[in-house]
Amino acid sequence: MKLCRYDNDRLGVVIGDQVHDVSAAQDEIRAAARYDMRGDAVIAALPQWRGRLEEMAKKAKGVPLSQVKLLSPVARPSKTMAAPTNYGKHIAEMEARRDLGATAAVKRHSSKIGEAGIFLKANSSVVGVSEGIPMRFPDRRNEHELELVVIIGKQGSDIPKDKALDYIAGYALGLDMTVRGPEDRSFRKSIDGYSPVGPYMVTADEIKNPNDLVATLHVNGELRQTAHTSDLIYDVGRLIEFASSFYTLYPGDIYFTGTPEGVGPVKPGDVIKAHNDQLGTLQIDVRAHGA
Ligand code: MN
Repeated sequence: MKLCRYDNDRLGVVIGDQVHDVSAAQDEIRAAARYDMRGDAVIAALPQWRGRLEEMAKKAKGVPLSQVKLLSPVARPSKTMAAPTNYGKHIAEMEARRDLGATAAVKRHSSKIGEAGIFLKANSSVVGVSEGIPMRFPDRRNEHELELVVIIGKQGSDIPKDKALDYIAGYALGLDMTVRGPEDRSFRKSIDGYSPVGPYMVTADEIKNPNDLVATLHVNGELRQTAHTSDLIYDVGRLIEFASSFYTLYPGDIYFTGTPEGVGPVKPGDVIKAHNDQLGTLQIDVRAHGA
């Protein structure tokens, strides 16, 4: 099933190129959720609600996906995690920049996941494709990082790798937008709009093997990045095992899995288009903040 949030916080099931409104389910789920719950109530309720959502979607009239304003598929993640340096060729391209005289911060960035740990992006940086990327620091190097995004489905801690995929609600494409420079990652990667996720969430049952996906990223029609998740240094299961060895994971938590080589600069006016045959097309505009 493909689930989206759209327009004024509506919940939709995507069938073909149509969105079917199931917001009544979202209202009911949220009304029954405890205020102090950790994570996103709708994602947490999916196992119980799935059948009903499908029934509701069949009865609801469709609206073309192209005519709705897509929001982040998760309304309220408890955290947004991200893997740095999880593809060998990306580590190599960052090391090459260091050799060209880049700063110590880039050197730090180049240590492999495991040594580097993972990092957090502010939840307030997460947006859907309709919101665009409002670029700050336009005089500095702002880069796209194409990534597979995992959306956690249930609470767990110390999750072994061989059980990890059971904790996944679904997948989406994501952009880990980044200002290059010496500051902490949480400064450079948590700017409003610097974590687009979308276009919708594809539930885990539709993705046979998350470690065998191919995604591409184009800027203004030019191919910049091709991700083969089979190249991940820590694969999806190991990433969940790793994160859950120090964080409790909650339903709706968002996990960026790392970027392959080909990261490059963007500027206001550019259009970024990420695509995977099963996850759809995440197309988003880069604009100046305040424009
Ligand atoms: Mn990244």
